[in-house]
Amino acid sequence: MTIAPNGTIGVLGGGQLGRMLALAAARLGLECRIYCPEDGAPASAVSAATTIGSYTDASALARFGRAVDAVTYEFENVPAETVEILTRAGVNVAPGARALAVAQDRLLEKQFAGSLGAATAPFAAVDSAADLSAALMRLGVPAILKTRRLGYDGKGQTVIRRAGDTETTWREATEKAWAEIGARPSILEGFVDFAFELSVIGARSATGEIALYDPPRNEHENGVLRRSTVPSGAGEATIRAAFDITKQMLVALDYVGVIGVEFFVTKTGGVIVNEFAPRVHNSGHWTTDACAISQFEQHIRAVAGWPLGSTARHSDAVMENLLGEEAARWDALAREPQTAIHLYGKREAAPGRKMGHVTRIRPRA
Ligand code: AMP
Repeated sequence: MTIAPNGTIGVLGGGQLGRMLALAAARLGLECRIYCPEDGAPASAVSAATTIGSYTDASALARFGRAVDAVTYEFENVPAETVEILTRAGVNVAPGARALAVAQDRLLEKQFAGSLGAATAPFAAVDSAADLSAALMRLGVPAILKTRRLGYDGKGQTVIRRAGDTETTWREATEKAWAEIGARPSILEGFVDFAFELSVIGARSATGEIALYDPPRNEHENGVLRRSTVPSGAGEATIRAAFDITKQMLVALDYVGVIGVEFFVTKTGGVIVNEFAPRVHNSGHWTTDACAISQFEQHIRAVAGWPLGSTARHSDAVMENLLGEEAARWDALAREPQTAIHLYGKREAAPGRKMGHVTRIRPRA
């Protein structure tokens, strides 16, 4: 199925990713309609229409689905049920239900990566305090306890630094961490002593064509992405390994759209899969300013059944998120040469909230 210009793409979710998807769609002569639970969402300001509704309102979703030519989503916590409702109503949803289900559950995600032969952090499923205690003794400290579902930007996780020593018993460490994540089904991950973090932004079209962007090096602060840099400085073999895993994931999931796969790079240049997002990704924002075709346009092309575009990078780039009050410096940033500013139109600047980003570019070295 190809959606020709003047066609309409439905987007579940109204955040900045939806906003940038809608802007890219508009350039191709396509329009986006947003479906999200809240009024005044960042994507709504630049989209043809917004339906305010709950993700479990079957009749509102079916009506929304009938008014568009295909549906995609801009965050991975859309309930699986939502995609089922739309699919049952005959709506084409991309990426499909399986990619969403795997990405939503850290345990399935790790098992999926393992099934492809990719390395992950050592992990154990944790469904009770007793499981946690056993897993902690097996994996040792430091370790990270993460809820299986509904985590993002470092939320729903807690680092366990001490256990089984003179100051903190196994039992104390277990009880504290288990309470901290709300006693929910989780996984415990061994701490990876990585050299740096890398991500691959990849795309697969409806006909199985694959395109990958130069992978950025990513720096996080408090679990939130601070900065993405291309070129990353990673060696050729490292990049090839990360590309191979991404391609395998795209094929195994029969994926249509853009994916973001996060890796830890070890001190010897090996790659370990951290997680993947079944959507456009914050670490791919620089593609708008440093590539012929951005990740947003690439995603729209894939969902609309168009051929993929070039991922060639014409500039070196450093993308930095503007968090909370940092966006108030917009006028100083606007004065900087070779700097592209992107503001998401959010009215309230809560601490750590993603308000915008800047991409500083210079000609390729
Ligand atoms: P996540 O939400 O799983 O992407 O975690 C957010 C960030 O926490 C990652 O980008 C890493 O910087 C750090 N992190 C997560 N898991 C691990 C791990 N197993 N070992 C070391 N650092 C981690």
